[in-house]
Amino acid sequence: MSDAAAQAADLLAGLLRHEMGHTGRVALHEPSFEGHEWDYVKDCLDTGWVSSVGAYVEKIETMTARACGAGHGVAVVNGTAGLHAALIGLGVAPGDLVVCPALTFVATANAVSQAGAQPLFVDITPDTLGIDPDKLDGFFETACDASDKGLVHRATGRQVTAVLPVHVFGHPADMTALCAIARARGLAVLEDAAEALGSRHLGKACGGFGDAGVISFNGNKTVTTGGGGVIVTDDAALAGRLKHLTTTARVADRLWFDHDSIGFNYRMPNINAALGCAQLEMLDTFIDRKRRLADRYDALFAGLDGVRLFGEPAGDASNYWLNALLFADETARDRFLELTNANSIETRPCWRLIPDTAAYAAAPRADDLSAARDIVARLVNIPSGPGLMKDRSQANGTPRLAGGSH
Ligand SMILES: *Cc1c(COP(=O)(O)O)cnc(C)c1O
Repeated sequence: MSDAAAQAADLLAGLLRHEMGHTGRVALHEPSFEGHEWDYVKDCLDTGWVSSVGAYVEKIETMTARACGAGHGVAVVNGTAGLHAALIGLGVAPGDLVVCPALTFVATANAVSQAGAQPLFVDITPDTLGIDPDKLDGFFETACDASDKGLVHRATGRQVTAVLPVHVFGHPADMTALCAIARARGLAVLEDAAEALGSRHLGKACGGFGDAGVISFNGNKTVTTGGGGVIVTDDAALAGRLKHLTTTARVADRLWFDHDSIGFNYRMPNINAALGCAQLEMLDTFIDRKRRLADRYDALFAGLDGVRLFGEPAGDASNYWLNALLFADETARDRFLELTNANSIETRPCWRLIPDTAAYAAAPRADDLSAARDIVARLVNIPSGPGLMKDRSQANGTPRLAGGSH
């Protein structure tokens, strides 16, 4: 057995099954409930506050904003809804273009479409997996014109109004450069930080760089509310508008119903927020474990030619939401996928590039997307859940209490 794919599959099984003792199926990213989840959810049932308002909704808004270093949070029913509402709140209008990376989960582009705008896809850098600042700047310089209507994309005649960077697998995009490029042209920046809760770019938390950022609490993210998300922003007026827009745009009155615009029912239920508050108390513990798991993986594959663990960008600290291996080519990638999944170790190929999906085949693009195309052909995500590195001396003892303050 000399091929890197088979050797890598053996090394992964050796670590997960023999060294770490995980028997049976090992999932890509399973949630872990080790703190006050039962207590807080039971509290909702005991008090009857299970639905669209309640103390846990406000608490999760505050906790998430604080984790992102932002002043305000608006809880929403999921991350996609958060991106949709935030785009509208930032003034993105039907017909506009919003710059998105080609490599992302489809929700990023769908939120743009749902706002009536169109995604314009740009390439990534292989060292961050996020939007390539040089290619973005080059595109603005050569393919767009500054006019009294704003920045206009010459080929489509549409106005570019926002840039939507994504922190792929939790690895920070180069927000310093991307914010500078966008702001020099008067564009809004919305950060898709769905995967990046707790990640830091040059010491500052992801989600806190853009005019607004969105965190997802889907079941496979670092911490979960079952389904949910929070929009974070430093802009109090924007937070107020977004709270209004996501709660049916009802004019404040104790008795009467009136609505000053067409709003959304994008509320996060209190029972979901309760689960999320308990999960957020575990955030530091989970990130510590995920970073230690990444170190183990990095050392495990370091001696093997033809495969390496994708590591956090220099100067940044990733939450390592999903660890990623890069193989030399597609054939090795496919063989590794086959061997690991046949052994009940769940591994997954990268998403198809969004502009290569049937849904977005007609969307405009800024360049040839060659770096993104090269990465997706060679990348595999490997098991990364916060329970994998749980100290097994605690596994069947007393539940581990939450890290941080309550
Ligand atoms: C998970 C995710 C979303 C959407 O979040 P949901 O809560 O599932 O709607 C958006 N963007 C990216 C990059 C994601 O990974």
